[in-house]
Order: sequence, then C-alpha cells, then structure tokens
Amino acid sequence: MTKLFEAKKRLYPQAIKGRFRKIKNILNAIFLTVFLFLPFLRFDRGDSSPNQAILIDFVNSKFYFFFIEIWPQEVFYVAGILIISAVALFFVTSLFGRIWCGYACFQTVWTDIFIAVERLFQGDRNNRIILDRRNNFQKIWRKTCTHLVWILISLITGFAFVAYFNDIFYLLKISNFSQNISAFWWMISVAGMTYIMAGFAREHVCTYMCPYSRFQSAMFDENTLIITYDQKRGEPRGKHKQGDSFENRGDCIDCKQCVVVCPTGIDIRNGLQMECIACGLCVDACDNIMEKIVRPKGLIRYDTEKNLHNPTPQNRFKVKRPRTFLYSAIMILVCSLMVIGLTNKSLLDISAVADRNPLFVTLSDGSIRNGYTLKIMNKTHEKKTFELKIANPQQAELKVQSFDQSNENNISSEPDSVTTVKIYVILSKENIVKNEEGRAFIELIAKDKVSSEEKKIELVFVSSSSK
Ligand code: SF4
Ligand code: SF4
Repeated sequence: MTKLFEAKKRLYPQAIKGRFRKIKNILNAIFLTVFLFLPFLRFDRGDSSPNQAILIDFVNSKFYFFFIEIWPQEVFYVAGILIISAVALFFVTSLFGRIWCGYACFQTVWTDIFIAVERLFQGDRNNRIILDRRNNFQKIWRKTCTHLVWILISLITGFAFVAYFNDIFYLLKISNFSQNISAFWWMISVAGMTYIMAGFAREHVCTYMCPYSRFQSAMFDENTLIITYDQKRGEPRGKHKQGDSFENRGDCIDCKQCVVVCPTGIDIRNGLQMECIACGLCVDACDNIMEKIVRPKGLIRYDTEKNLHNPTPQNRFKVKRPRTFLYSAIMILVCSLMVIGLTNKSLLDISAVADRNPLFVTLSDGSIRNGYTLKIMNKTHEKKTFELKIANPQQAELKVQSFDQSNENNISSEPDSVTTVKIYVILSKENIVKNEEGRAFIELIAKDKVSSEEKKIELVFVSSSSK
C-alpha cells in the first residue's frame, strides 16, 4: 500500500558535554526559574487591585505588569508589546539565526528537560535503543517512572501557566482551586499539551508545526550567524585510526557524533537545513572529536556564510549592519512612544453612548432632551468623586440619573472601576447652535473634586430626525 506520510523516525539524542551544552543548561535553569517563580512576585496596588506583579486578569479585562496597568481601552499598548517582540525576534534572527529556537523557545527548553528525565531513568542513547527493542520488567518500570515524572512536570507547568491569569496564592489553596473549574481545565489542557509536545512530538513541532522555521530564511542574509560545516576543511571525509596522517584528506573522520547528538536528527554536513534549530550541540560534539584527534576545533561552528566561503577579517560576523540599525530604530521608536504614552496616561477617562431609541425627545415646553449612557473610568486605586457639568453651551441643563446613586451631579467612583451613569441634556431650540455640517455639540466636563483634574468630552446633540 502506498504510504501517505513518511513514518516518524524515533530519535535517541545522545548526551554531550561542551560549552554550548553548558550555556543551554544555564539558560534552561534561568528560564524555568523565571517562569515558575514570577507569579509569586508581589506589587502593592492597594486594596482594590490584585497585588500579583504580573497578572492577566481576564475577568476584569486588565493586564498588570508591576506599575503598569493596561485597561481594555488601552489595547494599543498590547499592540506595541507585540510589535516590539516581533521586531526583536527579527533583529535577533538577522544577527544570530535561529538562536531563539535553540536556546529560548518553550518547545526546546521543555523537550530538553523531558530528554534529561528520559536519560535519568532509561540511560543514554544506546541504552534507550536497546531498551526499546526489549519487552521485559526493566522496560516497564523505567518507562513508567519516565512518564510519571513527565506528567508531574507537565502538571507543574500547567499550574504555573494558569497562575499568570489567577492569583497564585489563591490557587495554592486547594479549596479555591477545586472551585475554579476554568483554571482547573486550563491547567489540565496546558499540562496535556506539554506532555504531548515535549514527550512525543518534540522535533516535529519545530519541523512541521512552527511557522517560524518556514519564514526564518527571509530574515537571513550572508552575514547572519548560522551553524556551518566547513566543507573545505572537512572533505574528503573518511574513517581515521590513531596515528593516521591527515595529508590529502579532510578533517572529518565520519564518526557521526554530530548526527547522534542532534535533537532534530539531521546531518549538518549536508548544509543548513530547515530542521536545524541552531542549538550548537553538534559544535560541541565535533569540537570534542577534534580535541581527541588533535585537530583544530571549529570544523562545525557558528559562522557567517560570507566568512565561510571567503574567510577574511571584513567578512567576519558583525553586529553593525543596515538591517540591524533599521530594526533597532523601529524598536526604539515604538518603545519611546509607549513610554511617552504610559507616562502621560490619564487616570480618568470618560466615554458616552447616545440613546438610539428615541434619538431625542421634545418636551412639553418645546425644548429638546437627549439621553446618554456615560462610563467614567477611575484608573486610580482610590475612591473618587467627580462633578459633572456642562461647559458649553452654558444654557444647556444637565440631569444625572445614576444607576446606583440618587440624582445628583456628584458621582462617586470606586477605585479601579468603571461607573455607569445615565445623563440627560436639555436645551431649548433657540440655544441649539449647529456647525456648517448641521451638527450640534455639547461639551461635558468631569472634574475630580479632590485633585481638580478635568476630563472633557464632546456629545453630539440631536434635535431633528434628519440629523
Ligand atoms: S562530529 Fe565532526 S568529525 Fe565527526 S562526523 Fe561530524 S563533522 Fe565529522
Ligand atoms: S544541526 Fe546542530 S545546531 Fe542544528 S539542530 Fe542539529 S545539533 Fe542543533
């Protein structure tokens, strides 16, 4: 029968020691610590708001990041963060290739941890290959222990994930957590995804599922640092025995160490491939071999394509390039705009929605009344009282009908909350002043009774069905 897909080849990456492995271990430890312990960080925001330093509060539609609070109306900050992240990724990729994939991506970090657990219970590459061919008690207990630890790590990951959306100290109380069904199911879902992606899918996520591997080549140029095999130096390759000369042959002894350590199972000697995540483990493997056979290290190395084909000091890797200047300029610009926006952010906002049905009401004395629903956003952590008044036209009469308060122009607003009030504006026909387009406007002011900060808003005043 014709096969639709090539069967998944099971990989058994071999453990390796070296400087890039060490860097990966250090980074894995840092990223994991940050991911797991960040939700425990506290930031005092008073009694009205949660004091978790980083929190995505879906229930109240707010994002807290230390002293920064983003309300739903300020979604442009989220857009700014996304733009900066995307450009930062382009910037790093244009300089260092897929360094993100090799060292910082969740998939890589968790797969690394899962492989370490696999090694702990089942041994290194050869032991795992042999174990998989046998069916005995040893296989059962070793595999069972591996999967139990994988499940435990997945559950911890799922719990840490939901702690970015709910207060972690609240979740840590089992009684609270068991009542929060949505947090529980999110934890189980993320744990399940972690178990499948890091335990089974592994390199297939990078090769087939991740869109980044598909478009990364668009960000590469001949000055980008990539994993390279120095063909000029390595070929012709061949087996080597101790004492053999390296005359008239290349330095590659075809030991395949670079292949067996590769977490995606490729042979980098065939050139840069889409599957390569630039983790540098093949560099460590080959350097160890070169040391053993007393040849210079760096047969496989991080290098630019330009320098590989024409090694000169000018062709060496350099950070200062037009492309990196452009990316830096975009990031600086967006960061500056966000900082300006955040430092000048108003802590009081008003928005109004005019009644649609009826658009206006003609009162018995012939004057016109328009109704609006006003939303006053108090973004501070204190209770505020706002006075509502009409600035223009002076003749307009304001009637406030708060949903939860008696009729008055002074509106109390709870800290970190939105207060909704119904207002009516009444204006006699002769005082309605229309602009050239035939539209009339009312200027409404909300004034903070303590700080005297004022916020102005323009309301469209409708007095006839055609306008
Ligand atoms: S590890 Fe180095 S020497 Fe061994 S096969 Fe790979 S490139 Fe050749
Ligand atoms: S080829 Fe080397 S750098 Fe690329 S994924 Fe394999 S081991 Fe990592």
